[in-house]
Amino acid sequence: MVYMSTDLTWQTVSMNLNDTERLGSGLGSRLRGGEVIELISDVGGGKTTLVRSIAKGMGSKDTVGSPSFTLSREYRAGDKTLYHFDFYRLSDPGIVANELAEVIGDPLGVVVVEWANIVENVLPAHHLTIRIKTTSETKRQLVFEYPDNLQYLIPEES
Ligand code: ADP
Ligand code: MG
Repeated sequence: MVYMSTDLTWQTVSMNLNDTERLGSGLGSRLRGGEVIELISDVGGGKTTLVRSIAKGMGSKDTVGSPSFTLSREYRAGDKTLYHFDFYRLSDPGIVANELAEVIGDPLGVVVVEWANIVENVLPAHHLTIRIKTTSETKRQLVFEYPDNLQYLIPEES
C-alpha cells in the first residue's frame, strides 16, 4: 500500500528571535502529549531555539541546550516530558534510534527531533514537520506540515 500524504500546511514569517520564541512557546502550550515534531533547517536556522521556547511554553524550568554530542535530552514539564533528539552529522543512529522509538510511545511525552533524516522510518506517519528557512540574519520563514489530527497545534490566525 502506498502512503498518500495528505498533510496540510501553514506558514509564517519570523522577523526576529522574539517572534520565533513567541511561536515556540505558543506551540508548547498547545501540546497535549504524544506528539512528534520534526525540525528541518540549516545550521543556525533556529531549531534548538524553537525547542527552548516549546519547553518554556510547556511550563518547563529546565535548561534546553543542543544535544549534538549527547544525541538526546529530556526536560520535565509538569506531568509531561519533552524528549529532544539531534542526529546532526550522524551516519548511523544505532541504539539512539531504539531510544527514539521507545519514547515515541509515551502518551505524556512530546518528541522533538533535529536532523531526523536518518531516522525518518522511525517517525510516525502522523507528525508535525516544521521547515525553517533563513532569509536574512534575523528573518526566518517557517512552514508547518501537519496531518488533520494535529490541527490544534496551529496558531489561530489573528
Ligand atoms: P539550529 O539548532 O537550527 O542550528 P539555533 O537555534 O542553535 O539553530 O541557532 C539559531 C541562531 O539564530 C541563534 O543564535 C538565534 O539567536 C539566531 N536568530 C536570529 N534571528 C532568529 C529568528 N528570527 N528565529 C530564530 N533564531 C534567530
Ligand atoms: Mg540545533
